[in-house]
Amino acid sequence: MEIKNSKELKKYNRYIILNQIIERQPISRTELAEILNVSHTTISQLVKELIEEDLVVESYTKSTGGRPPKILSFKGYNKYIITLSFKETVISLAIFDLNFKLLHAEKINVKDNELTGLIEVIGDVLERLILEKKIKKKQILAMGISVPGIYKDNQDLIISSTAPYLNGQSLMKKIKNKVDFCPVFIQNDANIAVHYEWNYMLKKRYDNLIFIYIGDGIGSGIIIGNKLYSGSHGNAGELGHMQVKSTGKRCICGGTGCLEMLSSIKAIENEFKEKVYFTIDEIIKGYLSGEEKCKRVIDRAVKYFARALSSMVSFFDPEIIILGDFHNLYRGKIKDKLEEEMKKSHIFCVEDRPELILRNDRGDYQFSALYIYVFEHWKKEI
Ligand SMILES: [Zn+2]
Repeated sequence: MEIKNSKELKKYNRYIILNQIIERQPISRTELAEILNVSHTTISQLVKELIEEDLVVESYTKSTGGRPPKILSFKGYNKYIITLSFKETVISLAIFDLNFKLLHAEKINVKDNELTGLIEVIGDVLERLILEKKIKKKQILAMGISVPGIYKDNQDLIISSTAPYLNGQSLMKKIKNKVDFCPVFIQNDANIAVHYEWNYMLKKRYDNLIFIYIGDGIGSGIIIGNKLYSGSHGNAGELGHMQVKSTGKRCICGGTGCLEMLSSIKAIENEFKEKVYFTIDEIIKGYLSGEEKCKRVIDRAVKYFARALSSMVSFFDPEIIILGDFHNLYRGKIKDKLEEEMKKSHIFCVEDRPELILRNDRGDYQFSALYIYVFEHWKKEI
């Protein structure tokens, strides 16, 4: 963080003090001053502000004699973060308190709706929940939204989304018509996932990592040197549009030979138009029982996916790659096959090959990932 003036220095100090209180609570002012190497006067002044703003609470420890020392804790239970996870057919809404406790989750189905209509529905659901849960709007401190596709925040524009109702839309402007009481953060879903892995799941043990999401599309989130890398225009990580073949079906991006047209769930299912096998799970079953067509399609998907992964490894030299296990595509035998294919790629030192792990990214994963992203950003903004 670059600090240009005293106002920014104060903001930075508030952030590191609050962060330490959250991580090490309960903690005394003296301990804070020692850990952060910040003067007692600064600590006292900023802690006073945080108490006045109801973010920090003070209590007394048991003392064996003399005056009992005062200790500080974070007051997260009566403040909230709302998360909205947009997908092609469903929008998942969740409410967390600031102690990372999930209070409520529900799904809003997307039928043939336009985005404007969907935002009306979201607004109604929010109004209902605020009443039901007896939450005041001023207690909602931030909202986070994850979207499939590229979100260009300088233009407030979504492109290359697998959810057609989001393409070409200015989501921030539209959501702000309903949510004008707190800051809103919008981010691509794979970026949210890689941030969650780095910050929370893997506890910042890795500096360079890649999360790959395989669903109807294929996308990735990249962290390099402990920072999210989204490129000069927000387009980095569009792994699904890496050209892995010189010919093939035309992709939504206008190109041919894109990875997404060969190795995504949708691409695999589209090979079975005659409907002998309806879903990816049935196709995988067919593969495991040695059915010829299933084997051919999956082997091809794995081969090209491994090729794209090898290129990613050459470009970024990550320590670890996390595969979101959407539809269980890369489980068991198929993961072995992927690793076998990866071994064929050229790498100078075998020991530099990144670790490859599978992550169940269903259930509460998306909510939690989004919560952590918003919470971390909110702390820096207060
Ligand atoms: Zn493409």
